[in-house]
Amino acid sequence: MTPTLEISAGALRSNIAAVRERIAPSALLFAMKDDAYGHGLEWSASVAADAGVEWFGSYDVSSALRVRSVLGAYGRIFAWATSEDEEVAQAVEAGIDLGVGTREYLARVITIAERAGRQARVHLKIDTGLHRNGIRPEDWAATVGEARAAEAAGSIRLVGVWSHISEASDADDDASREVFLQAVDEAAATGATPEVLHLTASAAAWWRPELRGNLSRIGAFCYGIRSADGPEPEGIRPIATLSAPVIAVSAAAVTLGIGALDGVPSTLVGAPVGTTGGVAAIREIGMTEMLVAPWPGAAVGQRVRLFGAGDQGEPSATDLAERIGTVGEEILTRLSPRIPRVHGD
Ligand SMILES: *Cc1c(COP(=O)(O)O)cnc(C)c1O
Repeated sequence: MTPTLEISAGALRSNIAAVRERIAPSALLFAMKDDAYGHGLEWSASVAADAGVEWFGSYDVSSALRVRSVLGAYGRIFAWATSEDEEVAQAVEAGIDLGVGTREYLARVITIAERAGRQARVHLKIDTGLHRNGIRPEDWAATVGEARAAEAAGSIRLVGVWSHISEASDADDDASREVFLQAVDEAAATGATPEVLHLTASAAAWWRPELRGNLSRIGAFCYGIRSADGPEPEGIRPIATLSAPVIAVSAAAVTLGIGALDGVPSTLVGAPVGTTGGVAAIREIGMTEMLVAPWPGAAVGQRVRLFGAGDQGEPSATDLAERIGTVGEEILTRLSPRIPRVHGD
């Protein structure tokens, strides 16, 4: 009897369909960093490909290569981590699209593609205000010039222009959009013809249609994770249910076989769990076990839901996250890899 994370392919497909309908004509780039937010990289890629998704995003090159082995020659895979030469060479070889946010990285990608006698597919990132990674507006013209020269020489194709926005306030995001559009105009003026322009993730792509490019990078909403302190996107539901077995019952408390070592934050004391006899509150979280208030009919071997889609009254991952000041993604990605992922229809 172990905790399990049950994950529904049907729910993933249905969220993907809702997202695609909402953002059309912008296309979906399905974001899969952190092992597809803890849901399983290969499984998520294959369900999405079967649903007709054509763009996939995995942060690092090694994950992108795993996705490539699932997809074969199908689809575009976008890896946006600044990567080492060896990885860049593998990415170019495997037809992985590279997100490039520094001039130094662009120069390396060009050199590696030249050496391999191949054309690297590059998406240049403009820094629109987050100041993490991205080419500063004052360096943009020169960097685009270098990219265009490499394009003329055949070593890269400038496939996309992109950025990432804070989603912290509409005003900040509007300002980012202005910087982004300016960068797109400057690139176009040099004769560049990027196929894709992408700026938004889940929340902005869903709620702020005017910010969408012709591609939208979306993870959270596809997995049914709504934004912390954000509204419920219609037609989106959690695809994963975390459950744990009842391992002991007394008049005072029910013991569940799951704890902090499994990745359940010990600060979740007081949160509800969904049982066959209604909702019960968590009283204590230990390393491998937790205590829950007893409910009528509690018995060893029953399974209790810690988060899910709410069918037994259990909270969503985002509901839990809001109790402890984090985001739903973190509740999922912190779960121990030892918890079996059970992928079902
Ligand atoms: C994680 C990530 C996304 C997806 O964000 P969600 O809020 O999960 O949709 C998009 N773009 C970048 C660069 C990311 O790191």
